Order: sequence, then structure tokens, then C-alpha cells
Amino acid sequence: MERTLPALARTTGEQRLLDSFAAIPPNERVRLAKRTSNLFRERASTRTPGLDTTGLTGVRVVDVGRRTAEVDGMCTYEDLVAATLLHGLMPLVVPQLRTITLGGAVTGLGIESSSFRNGLPHESVLEMDILTGSGEIVTATPDNEHADLFRGFPNSYGSLGYATRLLIELEPVERYVALRHVRFHDLDALCAAIADVVATREHEGERVDFVDGVVFSADEAYLTLARHSDDDGATSDYTGQQIFYRSIQHDGTEPRRDLLTTLDYLWRWDTDWFWCSRAFGAQNPRVRRLWPKRWRRSSAYWKLVALDQRTHFSDRMEARKGNPPRERVVQDVEIPLEHTAEFLHWFLDTVPIEPIWLCPLRLRSDRTWDLYPLRPGETYVNVGFWSSVPGREPGATNRAIERRVDELHGHKSLYSESFYTREQFDALYGGDAYAVLKATHDPSGRFPHLYDKAVRHA
Ligand SMILES: Cc1cc2nc3c(=O)[nH]c(=O)nc-3n(C[C@H](O)[C@H](O)[C@H](O)COP(=O)(O)OP(=O)(O)OC[C@H]3O[C@@H](n4cnc5c(N)ncnc54)[C@H](O)[C@@H]3O)c2cc1C
Repeated sequence: MERTLPALARTTGEQRLLDSFAAIPPNERVRLAKRTSNLFRERASTRTPGLDTTGLTGVRVVDVGRRTAEVDGMCTYEDLVAATLLHGLMPLVVPQLRTITLGGAVTGLGIESSSFRNGLPHESVLEMDILTGSGEIVTATPDNEHADLFRGFPNSYGSLGYATRLLIELEPVERYVALRHVRFHDLDALCAAIADVVATREHEGERVDFVDGVVFSADEAYLTLARHSDDDGATSDYTGQQIFYRSIQHDGTEPRRDLLTTLDYLWRWDTDWFWCSRAFGAQNPRVRRLWPKRWRRSSAYWKLVALDQRTHFSDRMEARKGNPPRERVVQDVEIPLEHTAEFLHWFLDTVPIEPIWLCPLRLRSDRTWDLYPLRPGETYVNVGFWSSVPGREPGATNRAIERRVDELHGHKSLYSESFYTREQFDALYGGDAYAVLKATHDPSGRFPHLYDKAVRHA
């Protein structure tokens, strides 16, 4: 379905986007001009104006009867969740960081604790409008003439086009989420528990709607098993002085229980950017008391990281100590469950980073996705680690991780730095299918190539 709507039928946001596209000289690359980002790799700077997305940030309709929402492509999950919770509904997967946008999560593969039953955000998209390289907005669905673009869009990172409108499924919530933090002293036992929860959707007789986990060391790891709940009780608040990830830890044999409002559960990791706020001193009780509450959110820490990348402050501090710059190791990888314990042991022995985040996932159906070939019916565990290690040869640790992930038949997300050769990259991320998609939907190369974006910082 080509949207050959007369200009008046377009929303103001779409028109602004199209006008800004038309204003970019044909020999210049097209990219987003957007205030927030959750992309970690450095990008080449440019003076060319980007696409104007200012009118594409809202929720258009929440259809309670159909349990769907029609949403602008650059709407943040913070705004989307605020709109759907008013109706007792939530998107099927809500990535942990408030400023991730729906379009960003669909093209960049967000993930969360509902992914063991709902898959990834793109799997609950019913249709999308996409601005393609020809400057047109087309509607792509799983079975219309743009179905190839629908299937190839996840993991394309804006290299085939930009989603301007998405129709997504929603699911009902209750007022609270009840959590159990279950401790494991053994990573094989933890992985066996994941397999059981994924298969039965319960643990020790109690329903499980959400699962994620944290590894502090080989003998201190937790699964947080959570369920929707309407039982009244005292709720915890981790947006103040308490820190969520610290609340998980205990040395009892019984799970530690907690209750959060659904809103606080969805943003439990945003307040301290998982644990990454530690690097800015925001977990020191004295600093934390002075740290303005509105800055206790991932987007504020993100600005500090961006400032450091611009000024090379940390590198200069290392140089004063006579050290080379530290190597950033900020990655999420997906490992088949059967190899997850092996990967974690290797990682803990090789890379001095903890804690590590775990999140099980399975494709929601038998439908596969060209640029991120996960196998239907297989359980994977997303393993996330976001820190730095002492610098040796540039990229040495990241390359070692890429090799180990490959040996264990896993995949790496592309939001951060990657070091693959073009051949390796094409083999891992659907290179042949991508070449056809690129030729069809961006024949003049208005958007950067995926390899250039992911590996060459284009
Ligand atoms: C430290 C860190 C931790 C992360 N943790 C998580 C996590 O816990 N859970 C999780 O789900 N994800 C996580 N991510 C990954 C994140 O979901 C992806 O990077 C996602 O693409 C970010 O979306 P954004 O809206 O912030 O987009 P941006 O960061 O602005 O852009 C990301 C990429 O997507 C493209 N893009 C943005 N919007 C659109 C659109 N509408 N249409 C097409 N392309 C678009 C951009 O061109 C760019 O290439 C993490 C990323 C980082 C850096």
C-alpha cells in the first residue's frame, strides 16, 4: 500500500519530515535530527541538517477494545507507557530506558523481561509507515507488497528507512507487579531454572509474567521472577535513596519479595541506568541526596557519557596515571540458553566487568526476521554488560567477545561498537537479503549502509 495521500491528509509531523527530507541535497546522507539517543557507538559528525522528527513524537490512538495503539515513530516509551497505562494496558515489550523510542526499539531490537513470552518489540507490530530512500512514506504489513521491508526492518537501524507510524498490540496490566528475587550459587542451576520458567511460565507454583536476572559473580546470581498483581501492599520506591539492583541481593534460601507499582516496575532500571549511575557517584548516599531527582534517569547519565566522549576527560585522567585509554565494553549479546552458563563462566574469567544483566527471550512465533536470524523455538539469553576495561590493544576485549559469541552460535546487538569484517558481518546479519532490500527501498543510497553505521561509525 503506497500512501499517495494528498498533502492535506498528511499529519503536520509527516509533512515536516518530508519537507526536511526534500531539503537535504541529493548527494548528502540522510539521518535523524533527534534530541535523545540510546546509541552507544560514536558517530561521524556532520553539518548537513537531519530529518525533522519534531512532529512525530506522540501517541495517536489507544484502542482499548482492540488492545492496540497507533503511535508516532519517534514517540518515547515514557510517553507511550503513560498513555497506555491510563487504560490498564502496556506494550508487549517495554525496553528499560525511558527515552528509547518505539521506532528505535523496533529497528534496534529492544528487549525486556516479558521477552521470554512476547519476543522482541517488532513482533507485536501490526503495521508500520516507513519513509524510504525515495522520499515516500509506504505502509508495510506482514503480508502486503512491502512485506519484505516489514521483515527486514528489525536490525536495520534506519539504514532502509525511518518508521513514522506504528500500529502495535497491547496487553492488560494490573496495578502492581509482585517480584521474587531468587538466588543461585551456581550458573548451571540458574540456566536450568530459566528453561523451566520459559517452558511452564511458573516457578514453584506461582505464575511468572516477567523474568530477568543479574549475575554479580559465579556464585552470586539472581533471577527476578515477577507477575502482575492487584493485591494491595506496601510498595517500594527506587526513585529516591534506595537503589533497585542492590535490593535484589540477599543470602537467604527463600526468595526475597517486593512489590512495585506497574509504572515503577517498568522503569525500575532507568533510575540508575541499571547500575551504571555508579560511575558518576550517584550511588554514594551523600551525592545521591544532593543529586536532583529529575536527573536520576538514564537520559541524564547519557548526557554525561556524551560529554566525556566529546572532551576525552576519562582518557586524559588515565593518561595522567600513565595508562592508555580504557576500552569501552558496552554490549548486549544473545546466547542460546544451552551455552549461556559456559559463556558466563568464560566472561567472568576473562572480562573484569560485573554486574551482568540477563534476559531470556524467544521468538514469539515461527515468523523469522531477515537481518537478525534467531531460530524459532529456541530460547536465548540476552547478556548485557556496560562498562570499560583497562586498555590494551584497541578493541581487544570487544573482539574476543565477538569471537566467543560466534563460537557459541550467538548474536550481538549492533547499538554499540562492532569490529566484524564485511564478510563476517554479512554472514551474521542477513547480508544477501539486506543487499536486495537496500537496492529496492534505498536505491540511491540516501541512508548509510548498515555495515557503515554499525562498524565504520558512519
Ligand atoms: C547502554 C545501552 C543500554 C541499552 N540497554 C537496552 C536495554 O536494556 N533494553 C533495550 O531494549 N535496549 C537497550 N539498548 C538498545 C536500544 O534499544 C537501541 O539502541 C535502540 O535502537 C535505541 O532506540 P532510540 O529510540 O534511543 O534510538 P536512537 O539511539 O536515536 O537511534 C538508534 C538507531 O535507530 C535508528 N532509528 C531511530 N529511530 C528510528 C525510526 N523511527 N525508524 C528507523 N530507525 C530509527 C537510528 O537511525 C539509529 O541508527 C541499550 C543501548 C545502550 C547504548
